[in-house]
Amino acid sequence: MAPDRMDADDRVNILLVDDQPAKLLSYEAVLSDLGQNLIRAQSAREALECLLRNDIAVILIDVCMPDFDGFALVSMIREHPRFDRTPIILVSAVFMSDVDRLRGYEKGAIDYVSVPIVPELLRAKVAAFADLHRKTRQLEELNAQLERRVAERTTELESSGARVRAGEERLRLAVEGAGMATWDADLRTGRAFWSATFFTILGYEPVHGGEASTEMWTGCIHPDDVARVMDGMHRARADRSLFSADHRIIRVDGGDVVWVSSFGRFLGDAPGEPSRFVGVLFDITARIRMQETLRDADRRKDQFLAMLAHELRNPLASMRNAVKIMYAEPLGEDTLGRCRDIIDRQVDQLALLVDDLLDVSRITAGKIKLRLEPVDLWPVVSEAVAASRILIDDRRHVLTVRPPEQPVWVDGDRVRLAQVVTNLLNNAAKYQDDGGRIRLDVERDGDEAVIRVRDEGIGIPPDMLARIFDLFLQVDGSIHRAQGGLGIGLSLVRSLVEMHGGEVEVRSEGLGKGSEFVVRLPCRAAPASWPRPGETDPARAGARHRILVVDDNEDAAESQAMLLQMAGHEVFVAFNGSAALDRAAAEQPAVVLLDIGLAGMDGLEVCRRLRAGAGTPRGDDRLRPGRGPAALARGRLRHAPGQARGPRGAHEAAGRPARGCPADHLQVIRGRSRRRRSARAWPGFKPAARGVRSGA
Ligand code: ADP
Repeated sequence: MAPDRMDADDRVNILLVDDQPAKLLSYEAVLSDLGQNLIRAQSAREALECLLRNDIAVILIDVCMPDFDGFALVSMIREHPRFDRTPIILVSAVFMSDVDRLRGYEKGAIDYVSVPIVPELLRAKVAAFADLHRKTRQLEELNAQLERRVAERTTELESSGARVRAGEERLRLAVEGAGMATWDADLRTGRAFWSATFFTILGYEPVHGGEASTEMWTGCIHPDDVARVMDGMHRARADRSLFSADHRIIRVDGGDVVWVSSFGRFLGDAPGEPSRFVGVLFDITARIRMQETLRDADRRKDQFLAMLAHELRNPLASMRNAVKIMYAEPLGEDTLGRCRDIIDRQVDQLALLVDDLLDVSRITAGKIKLRLEPVDLWPVVSEAVAASRILIDDRRHVLTVRPPEQPVWVDGDRVRLAQVVTNLLNNAAKYQDDGGRIRLDVERDGDEAVIRVRDEGIGIPPDMLARIFDLFLQVDGSIHRAQGGLGIGLSLVRSLVEMHGGEVEVRSEGLGKGSEFVVRLPCRAAPASWPRPGETDPARAGARHRILVVDDNEDAAESQAMLLQMAGHEVFVAFNGSAALDRAAAEQPAVVLLDIGLAGMDGLEVCRRLRAGAGTPRGDDRLRPGRGPAALARGRLRHAPGQARGPRGAHEAAGRPARGCPADHLQVIRGRSRRRRSARAWPGFKPAARGVRSGA
């Protein structure tokens, strides 16, 4: 039966070795039906060359060949490792004995065929070997393919393994960088593995290998949080949802309470009971503290607003009452005087309140700049004592002061330093029962100037000492406190002292045991010469001026003018910019008190025109620079009063007059008059001492 036709690729090579071409031809005739490639070789040498060049499936060798017989050729072929298994069939018409056959097998032949050949037999044998070879070749190819695929897969696995390792490394870095701790608990064995951070957060020494137990964690949960945390865990376990809880733990190494945030998930291969519980945990104590601080600040702000409303309403109510009384007829001189006093006092109080509020906002915005100069501390402290004296006397306290033995000099802003001492003295007066004792010491301690204000009043509870300088903080935050105030005084004190490069501290043995505030400032050497504080210019102190008041708020302009007139000045009023220029030209005032925020032509423009001599009907140069009036701008300034320059051409910029009285402006005017004489110095300027808050 003829074999199926083969594909060219499926064909195998069959090597036929015989020195006689006729025999080769007969082999070809017998084997041609197999459809394989039949290759001829007429000598051993030719056969070997052919073997080396081709992949031979089976070799048919004639035993009897002249130079090199078949046995020798078989031996030689077998010696080559590539051909040690190639099937060789020996054919012989001469050597037919069993001994010959045996010899053939010993040399490595796998079959021995005698002549005459039985064609079917030979064909069947060769076909079997050819088939075996083809299958072996296919297997080898399959094997090679398999190996290639294994190699590809291995490479893929290696690179995905490397990616996973890199991902894990990134995750580990992120987890460590974020201060996270990780856990992995086996729910069947109860064994858990923790990262080193987990041990640290809970206060354990990290264990090598990270082995721990779930109880080591659950045992640390704060008793008040245990139920909530366990509840969350059971829910997450039941519905395989994310477990998340912010809770407290008590560290095992010292009992400190730490806030942590935990996130975990129950995992399992099959539905049903989970087998693992994995998750992360991190310390959120700082965040919780920050939230508490913010909540506290928010509460204090609300408290402050309530307090502010209260503090504003009280003086306003008193003033409204006084005004109503003043409208009543007939009104005795005595009643009128008392009403005026009430209004004066309450306006003072409101002005102080507003001043403090503005100071706080300016300090917070970094807008307050100190006018630093060499300051002899004691005269400044004395000014503060004078300012606080009314309250101290009012409360019948006994104030003992101890000045320094030698002048103590600091680089300071005398107004702000006085403000610091006034605040401390006022508090000492406010926070003790009437008839108490206050002690004020100023001394030099090494390189520091020390101001101590001590009282024997209500004292400060220990837990408040660290926060007493915080903005809006009041030990008794209830609106019904007797002392009034907004909780900003001490905050101002601390800010101002620190701006001077100093520090302030508080001491108190506790409630009812009095308080002591100690301010320390860096000292400086006494300057070679210095202007005497409080020095006045007798020639100018009582001088009368021609003053033009310009304000589009007619009430403000009129009341300002009246007060200036009462102080002995000759005063003119204008309610807008162009009227101001006309009045200035007509009256030639020495000083113009000018509101910046005028409607229409604003104060800046008026000032500029005054300086340029414009608006002068007579067109002369009386208002030219150097000859014109001193212009004192006031109103809503973008800069803090006095700290930055006012409008171009204005000699001084001031806020709206504090305490409802232009006394501050008059000080400036007086100073201005002196300054014009002495060109540079302004020695006599003594800022209005801050008043004393009266009790609400
Ligand atoms: P205020 O006096 O307007 O409330 P402060 O900032 O000056 O604001 O003071 C803050 C708080 O500190 C006060 O409300 C008071 O509770 C407490 N305090 C300040 N000084 C004293 C003092 N000398 N003795 C006892 N408590 C004081």
